[in-house]
Amino acid sequence: MPAYDVTIIGGGHNGLVAACYLAKSGLKTLVLERREVVGGGAVTEEIAPGVRVSALDHAAGPFSAEIAAELHLARFGLEMIVPPARVLGLGADGRSVCVYEDVGRTVEEIHRFSANDAKNYPEFVNSFARIGRVLAPLVSMTPPSIDQPSAGDVWQLGKVGLAFRGLGKKDEYRLLRWGPMAVADLVSEWFETELLRAVVAARGIYGAFAGPWSAGTSLGLLWQAAMDGSAIGSASYARGGMGALSAALADAAKAAGAEIRTRAAVDAIVGADGEKPKVVLESGAEIESRVVVSNVDPRSTFLHLVDPVDLDPNFLSKMRNYRAPGTAAKINLALDGLPTFRGVNGGHPKIRLGGRIHIGPEIDYLERAFDASKYGEFSAEPYLDVTIPSLNDSTLAPEGKHVMSIHVQFAPYKLKGDWGARREEFEDNVIGLLENYAPGLRELIVAHQVITPVDLEQTYGLSGGHIHHGEQSLDQFFTFRPLIGWAQYRTPLKRLYLCGAGTHPGGGLTGINGANAAREIARDFKGGKV
Ligand SMILES: Cc1cc2nc3c(=O)[nH]c(=O)nc-3n(C[C@H](O)[C@H](O)[C@H](O)COP(=O)(O)OP(=O)(O)OC[C@H]3O[C@@H](n4cnc5c(N)ncnc54)[C@H](O)[C@@H]3O)c2cc1C
Repeated sequence: MPAYDVTIIGGGHNGLVAACYLAKSGLKTLVLERREVVGGGAVTEEIAPGVRVSALDHAAGPFSAEIAAELHLARFGLEMIVPPARVLGLGADGRSVCVYEDVGRTVEEIHRFSANDAKNYPEFVNSFARIGRVLAPLVSMTPPSIDQPSAGDVWQLGKVGLAFRGLGKKDEYRLLRWGPMAVADLVSEWFETELLRAVVAARGIYGAFAGPWSAGTSLGLLWQAAMDGSAIGSASYARGGMGALSAALADAAKAAGAEIRTRAAVDAIVGADGEKPKVVLESGAEIESRVVVSNVDPRSTFLHLVDPVDLDPNFLSKMRNYRAPGTAAKINLALDGLPTFRGVNGGHPKIRLGGRIHIGPEIDYLERAFDASKYGEFSAEPYLDVTIPSLNDSTLAPEGKHVMSIHVQFAPYKLKGDWGARREEFEDNVIGLLENYAPGLRELIVAHQVITPVDLEQTYGLSGGHIHHGEQSLDQFFTFRPLIGWAQYRTPLKRLYLCGAGTHPGGGLTGINGANAAREIARDFKGGKV
C-alpha cells in the first residue's frame, strides 16, 4: 500500500482546507508546497523591518464562517476583523462616499450626493440580500452533472428552485435578468451618482479581463451576495495579515494528522488513471498515494504537470481554451505615517479609511482602464483597490507607521515590452495617480514591493498571473468550472482531483472549493471508487 491515501499538490488555503477535512475523515494526507511558506495567495510578508503586509489578497472573500467554525480555526489563533466601513470611494473632485456595513449610516452618506440614490440604496441592499440567500446553497454544493444528474443533484437543485419561487416575481425577474448584464447597466438602473455607480460596479470586474461595459459582469455582484449577503466587496481581514489564516489552517491540518512539506515543488503527476498514481518532485523524489489532489490552477495542472499523452485530445484542447489572462498587479508600501486623503479629513478618517479604498471615480474611467489591457498596455489611470490594514491591526506596523496594500488593474500579463524593464515606470505611474488623492504620499514611502503578473506566475505559481486561477465569466462558472462535464472536482484521470480556485465556486479567499472537493474525495473513498 502507498504511504499516503492523499497527496495534495499546493498548500494554498484551499489545499489546506481540503487537507483538514481529509485528515479529519481518517485519510493519511500529505501536502506538498513549492514555496518556503504555505498559503498561496494568503501570505503575510515583511517589506520593511517590523512592517508586514498581506502580499497578495488583502481582504478575504469572506472566508466561510462555517468552515472556520468546523475546523475550530479560532483555537489555532485565527481572528478575523471586519471594520465598520466596507469601501470608501474617492472622487476626482475631492469628495468621497463611504459604504458602511450599517445601511442607515450609508444612506446618510449617499444623501450628500443624491436624495434619490439614498432612497434606492436600502432596496438595493435588501434585494441583493434576498437573492444572495437563494443563491448561497449553490456556493457550497457540488455542481450537478449535466449528463447524468444524480438523485442528490436533483434534490439539491429542487431546493434552490423552491427558494427561487419564494423570492416573489420582482426578485425572480431581477435574478434572471441581472446575471448576463453588463454591470454598468445594472448600477445605472439603481443610482445616478457616478462615483457610487463606480464603487458598486467594481465588484463585477475585480480580477477580471473585463470592463464594466462587458456583458456578464453583474455576475460578480450576484456571487458576492451569495457569499456574504452584499453585492459590494467585503473588507474582512485576518489579524496578522492573511498569512495568519493560512497558519491557522496549517496548524489545524497538522493537528488532524496531515503532513505538510514546504520547498517541495511537484514536477509531474504520473499514472493518475491507474491504481498507483505518483507525483515526481523537482528534486527527483517520487511519492505514491491512492489519489492526487491538485490545488494548482487547472492550466498548470493539465498542461504542465500531466503528460499530454495521458489525456484525451478533446479534453486537452478544451483546457487550452480555458481562459486565464492575468490583469492585476500588487504594490505594497511601508509608510512613515498615515497619508492624508483629500476629502476624507472630516468625520473619522481612520474609520472611513479602514475598509477598502476605491479609486476609479466613474464607470467610463473603469472602462478606459480596462481598454489599455486589451492592447497589451497597463492603464495610464488604473482602477485601484487599496487597503491600509495597519489601521485595524497594530501587529502589522510599529506605532505611527503604516502599511498600504494596492491592488492595481489593469496590468496585463502579456504586456508590450518586458515587465522587468517597465516595473519602475508602472510603479511610478500608480504612485503618481495616488498622489492626486493623497498628496504627499510619495514622501511617506520607506519601502516598497511591486508584484507584477509575471511575478504572480513565477513566484506565486499562478499560471498566466490570473488571480482567480481563470476567468470567472458565465462560460467558466458553476457547472462549467473549469470545464463542462468536469465541475465535480473529479477529472478525466480517475485518481486525480482538483480543489483550487479554478473549481466551483471560483476565486477568493473563502475555503469553499477545498471543503467541497474534500467532501467528494471522501465520498469516493467511502464508496470504494478509489
Ligand atoms: C494579487 C492578488 C490579489 C488578490 N486579492 C484578493 C482579495 O483581496 N480577496 C480575496 O478573497 N481573494 C483575492 N485574491 C484571490 C485569491 O488569492 C485566490 O482566489 C486564492 O488564493 C485561491 O486559493 P487556492 O488555495 O485555490 O490557490 P493558491 O492560493 O493559488 O494556492 C496554490 C498553491 O499551489 C502552490 N503550487 C503551485 N504549483 C505548485 C507545484 N508545482 N508544486 C507544489 N506546489 C505548487 C502555490 O505555491 C500555492 O501555494 C487575490 C489574488 C491575487 C493574486
